[in-house]
Amino acid sequence: MRAIIIGSGMGGLCTGLILKKNGIDFVIYEKEDHPGGSFWTSIYKGYKIDTGLHMLTRGKTGELPVLMREFIDKDIFQKEFVSQKAYRFFLGDKNDVIPKNLSELLKFKLLNSSDRMKFLKMYLHFLRLGRSGTESYSDMTSYGYAKKFIGSDNMLYFLNALCWMSTGCNIKEGALERFVDTLVRDKEFSFDFIMKHIGKKGDATEGDWYPVGGLKRVPELFMDQGLDVKLNNEVEKIVVEDNKVKGVKISGKFYPSDIVIYDGMISNLSSLIEGGELDIKIPKQDDYEAITIWLGFDQKIASWDRESRIIIQNNLDSPHWGVFLTDFDPGLAPEGHQLFGMSAILHKDKEKLIEEMKESIEKLIPDYKDKVVFEHIQVDRAEKTLQKAENSMWNLPEQKTNIEGLYVVGTDTKAFGSGGTMCAGSARRCWNFIKKDYNL
Ligand SMILES: Cc1cc2nc3c(=O)[nH]c(=O)nc-3n(C[C@H](O)[C@H](O)[C@H](O)COP(=O)(O)OP(=O)(O)OC[C@H]3O[C@@H](n4cnc5c(N)ncnc54)[C@H](O)[C@@H]3O)c2cc1C
Repeated sequence: MRAIIIGSGMGGLCTGLILKKNGIDFVIYEKEDHPGGSFWTSIYKGYKIDTGLHMLTRGKTGELPVLMREFIDKDIFQKEFVSQKAYRFFLGDKNDVIPKNLSELLKFKLLNSSDRMKFLKMYLHFLRLGRSGTESYSDMTSYGYAKKFIGSDNMLYFLNALCWMSTGCNIKEGALERFVDTLVRDKEFSFDFIMKHIGKKGDATEGDWYPVGGLKRVPELFMDQGLDVKLNNEVEKIVVEDNKVKGVKISGKFYPSDIVIYDGMISNLSSLIEGGELDIKIPKQDDYEAITIWLGFDQKIASWDRESRIIIQNNLDSPHWGVFLTDFDPGLAPEGHQLFGMSAILHKDKEKLIEEMKESIEKLIPDYKDKVVFEHIQVDRAEKTLQKAENSMWNLPEQKTNIEGLYVVGTDTKAFGSGGTMCAGSARRCWNFIKKDYNL
């Protein structure tokens, strides 16, 4: 059996790794000149700049870390990644580290004592919700669920910031489901689970991690496993006969295969198909871009000890997320320099947002302007589709299509979590379909 994967984003690479370890003959065609899709790092004036700010979530049980441990190296996280210590939130004149469990929540300075009790009640209700089946919340907004627990405006703004960071939209639009996934889905409601959440045993969130060497280290680790990626090869057509995949066309030349797995945008897939008709749910793809301001400093101007710092807006606008990436890897900047990034979802006029983000930077690093020696502004599509309640993960297409031998992976297919987690989950689900369809 011969397979072709179209696209070497994390969806395509995760699928490739699974196929490789299961002895399937395959090749990956990538239209760009590098693998990894959005997981990449470019060099400008000696600074290594990722595609936006990235952290790998759920270091123990997240689908991407699990896949990398299973197929690359069981100690990969100790060897290649550095953990983030905390997310520190700023709201008005207060700041505090985001609680990792219920014990920390009871002392959380951004909320008053009445809000904390309301939050606690919501959290306990929420843990039960995650265990009670999905029908009741699959199209619910975060606000639709949380409003009966929300006390002061500060609590609303705090929850709104969490929502923007997880779903890419505000609390009144973002899918509740994204939180269900991160916190409780598929977890055993065991003694250990409860102890973690009340802060008596380990960390319920499992921390976030950064790859030493920059984000591109992640696809490089996959490539080191011998994945065959043909760069600068754009697939123009997927050839179908009698509703069955026959192969692909690149620059007019035909390459036969039994299976094609597509990691590009699902909304473009129909236009690629020649000789057949695609009949799958196409997610509504809202414009969804993130903006990142990168700044280089030729001296150490602040020490954040591997913390992310997040400014919460006193309205329903998106939070501004800032990180000194050289805290995680000094090699990302010329020797002795610091590299700082701040990201936000681009949901309003770009120039206005840049101005507001720079005000946030000033709040976090007073007088930073005099010390900047490098500035670079980036705009990227953050995920292929927004996690709005009306277009939640349950409504995304399955990895198997109506055309025999044609499968889809990536963050606009049905999988749970965010970014890299979703890619790995989609690859695993895709492999399960292939195994079943071909009796492997
Ligand atoms: C600013 C920002 C911050 C983010 N933060 C995080 C984070 O903290 N944690 C996290 O996990 N995720 C994060 N993400 C999201 C994550 O980067 C993406 O969700 C993920 O990389 C998407 O992978 P994918 O495989 O679905 O798609 P892509 O990365 O888009 O890959 C698709 C690939 O297919 C190729 N392709 C498409 N069509 C063809 C064709 N016809 N022929 C050949 N090749 C083709 C493309 O060139 C591309 O390489 C962030 C993203 C951004 C932009």
